[in-house]
Amino acid sequence: MDNTQITVTSPLLPDLDELDAYLRDIWSRKWITNNGHYHKELEAALCEYLKVPYVSLFTNGTLPLITALQALRITGEVITTPFSFVATTHSLWWNGIKPVFVDIDPSNCGINPDCIEAAITPRTTAIMPVHCYGKPCDTKRIQDIADKYGLRVIYDAAHAFGVEVDGEGILNAGDMSTLSFHATKVYNTIEGGALIMHDARTKQRIDYLKNFGFAGETTVVAPGINGKMDEVRSAVGLINLRHVDEAIEARHRVAIAYREGLRDVPGITYFEDMPGVRHNYSYFPIFVDPEQYGMTRDELYEKLKSRNIYGRRYFYPLISEFSTYRGLESATRENLPVAHRIAEQVICLPMHHQLSGEDVERILDAVHN
Ligand SMILES: *Cc1c(COP(=O)(O)O)cnc(C)c1O
Repeated sequence: MDNTQITVTSPLLPDLDELDAYLRDIWSRKWITNNGHYHKELEAALCEYLKVPYVSLFTNGTLPLITALQALRITGEVITTPFSFVATTHSLWWNGIKPVFVDIDPSNCGINPDCIEAAITPRTTAIMPVHCYGKPCDTKRIQDIADKYGLRVIYDAAHAFGVEVDGEGILNAGDMSTLSFHATKVYNTIEGGALIMHDARTKQRIDYLKNFGFAGETTVVAPGINGKMDEVRSAVGLINLRHVDEAIEARHRVAIAYREGLRDVPGITYFEDMPGVRHNYSYFPIFVDPEQYGMTRDELYEKLKSRNIYGRRYFYPLISEFSTYRGLESATRENLPVAHRIAEQVICLPMHHQLSGEDVERILDAVHN
């Protein structure tokens, strides 16, 4: 049997001839960074694609989190999820904010709205949820709680590129949302990211903040950072944007094949599509119940590896288990039972636009015990 390596992900890469034309144009303009021609074009194109009013590009997906917290002057404590990539919580730490972890909802692996109110203290200023795997959080309930207590909401939407609920872009929820355009994501600019906001004033402020706080040649209005995206990666973004829908369709076909193939495997569960949601199929997590499946998640992970198939244990360990955060009152296992159970049962199967039917067959064959 074919034993070539199946990677967990594979980057969407621009066609070299298309890229060549852009590079020649950038070289002739000799304007290679600092809000250049293609930077502006990509911001406008993303507003349209994502159905949002304002986008500010960044050089990665972590700086928009850090910058959003700065722009909204968030301090004190922020309620967040332990079930995410470490950058979510690191962005709080970099702002001197205390993360307060609450448990997750097993139906979407996002923050459980039922757990938020009990975690609010007089020092709480904001909520930072994550649309985990691109599954939309219950944005309405989160907003109701935020409004009731006067809290801000910043969504880490790194997984949610192109996700829509009832025809509306998910990135319109909350005060701001952030995206990552890292090579491993559904849509990439090699490295890159963006911050999504609702009004022109906030967009202006963010644009200052990502450029050292400069508002003109000699005026610095805030202690900003350098978060700017360059022209070359903006061009990569423009090209990839023309192919991202095909890539999402290819991912969708893989998801359909996985669901079909896993339907009758005892002890393996996975998410179905949610009604009214345009999914992006950024990940395909499955949950292994060792009693019923007859093997633990880690045993399955190793078995896949022995067949040269690479899954990912996203998200394991939980962020609350890392040494920086383990000492927090909210990081205890008792506070986060669902997150702990899922972290021990989850494995994300390979998911990308170039997986072939044979690849999927091989993966399913390995999962079938
Ligand atoms: C990828 C990711 C980030 C960080 O994005 P970078 O572009 O790698 O800095 C933040 N949060 C989540 C949930 C992510 O998956």
